[in-house]
Amino acid sequence: MPCPWFKDGFCTSPALERPSTDPVIPQKCLGDETVYRACKYYREPTSISLKAAQPYISKFGKPLLLIHSLSKKPSSGCKFFIVEKHESGAYLAACDVLGRYLTRYEVPLCEKHWENCPYRRVGLVLEEQSKK
Ligand code: SF4
Ligand code: SF4
Repeated sequence: MPCPWFKDGFCTSPALERPSTDPVIPQKCLGDETVYRACKYYREPTSISLKAAQPYISKFGKPLLLIHSLSKKPSSGCKFFIVEKHESGAYLAACDVLGRYLTRYEVPLCEKHWENCPYRRVGLVLEEQSKK
């Protein structure tokens, strides 16, 4: 089970001013209880605080078109690379391991160097573990 504060790629811990992807490290947030409980942002959840964290969240967070929109449809051999079409007509790319949209600067890396991506390796390990 991942950390209860990990929601759709965001850390929603009350230790933060607002939900953020900044402290998220898949190995930690998606790790087992002993791992995520050692995180400095971890707080004991209550049903109220967890519920309050929900409205901030959407599938991959909220895209910021200035940094996330792509004029051409991206493509990557990575199975965790998700492409969406935004209502503006722009394309968006997201990483299913990181649980967030990828910036324009990250997308070319996922297109060209996906085989060496450390997050992909984490995603594959987590996938294997979930099958057991
Ligand atoms: S492990 Fe830490 S950073 Fe990750 S979701 Fe939990 S509290 Fe946030
Ligand atoms: S960051 Fe890595 S795992 Fe995520 S989509 Fe890009 S290549 Fe795949």
